[in-house]
Amino acid sequence: MRTIFHLDMDAFFISVERILNPKLEFKPVIVGGDPHGRGVVAACSYEARKYGLHSGMPIRTAFKLCPKGIYLHGHYDEYNRYSHAAKTILSGYAPILEQASVDEFYIDFTGCEHLYGEYPTLALKLQKEMINKLFLPCSIGIGSNKTIAKIASDYKKPNGITYVPPGKEKQFLASLPIQVIPGVGKVMLKKLNEKGIYIISDITNMPKDFFSTVYGKSGNDLWEKANGNGAEYLTPSREQKSISHETTFLEDVNSLHNLEETLFGLCAKIAQSLKNMNWYASNIALKLRYSDFQTIIKSKSIRMTDDPLIIFNTSAGLLKNSYTRRVPIRLIGIKLTKFIIAAEQQFLFDDIQIRRGKALDAINLIRLKYGYKSIQFGIIKA
Ligand SMILES: [Mg+2]
Repeated sequence: MRTIFHLDMDAFFISVERILNPKLEFKPVIVGGDPHGRGVVAACSYEARKYGLHSGMPIRTAFKLCPKGIYLHGHYDEYNRYSHAAKTILSGYAPILEQASVDEFYIDFTGCEHLYGEYPTLALKLQKEMINKLFLPCSIGIGSNKTIAKIASDYKKPNGITYVPPGKEKQFLASLPIQVIPGVGKVMLKKLNEKGIYIISDITNMPKDFFSTVYGKSGNDLWEKANGNGAEYLTPSREQKSISHETTFLEDVNSLHNLEETLFGLCAKIAQSLKNMNWYASNIALKLRYSDFQTIIKSKSIRMTDDPLIIFNTSAGLLKNSYTRRVPIRLIGIKLTKFIIAAEQQFLFDDIQIRRGKALDAINLIRLKYGYKSIQFGIIKA
């Protein structure tokens, strides 16, 4: 079972405009240019939505419904700047994420409960970080695939957190209106309504064949989504050629043991991200920054792996070679490059490797909880 988060900023453009000009707070604000022009509403505040406004609406129509609204052209450079800042914060939690638009992100936290705690608690933490660091409210949906996560993030807005536990997808969807399903536009909605289909259980109560026959591939997709199915893997940007994770210490560190402990945590997180992507990496780089800002980067090529132990042992070796001065360390980081997609390589695993993988996961868990040295490998002599 996979665990995907969908984080969606609440009225993102408006939130940014309100940071730039706090006087816009609590007022109907519309981004989209000249209210007498030919444009459409790019975004509107929740106060404006009370007048029936929504994004995509012709701006002249919006002006007729809400003449007292504040109409802005929008600061698109600022939106991009905030979007980038949000991505940077989220990258600190999950080295791989998919940016779906300027204000929404999919994050794969599968298997990360032991790293970050219960999923809804983690979601709350992400929300608080967005507010504390960027003053931006967001809603988060958590589900077993991207579709569920997206519908869930939209379920309670603003400031919502909706967790759909695995196995509860159909139950969650059943009574929701069909237009919450991504891909159901105005035209599709009208056609379905004409057939008496209004809520999602109206779809699931009918045979799949009906939808694929009448609507082809989009009908087929619709039926699958209504039944709680969706894409389970993220598609991060194609340019992603590396995954990195680093920690700046609150106080400089001068013990190798402490550095190894931190490195171990970083390796566990990065290995989990690899696993979630179904990727293998074959190059590991370690970054070390001394308190006087001298920065050392050392890397090593290895056999393709997603094994946290191999990643840790390799980077711990690099650490020993890099930490040569008697000066405290302020930052340690790790970066993986040269990936292959593991999905097509599954046949390479034999039974022993699969069992070894499970044992390593268990060891990983114990070490994260009790420290790296709490469990050690021994050598059995025959
Ligand atoms: Mg949004």
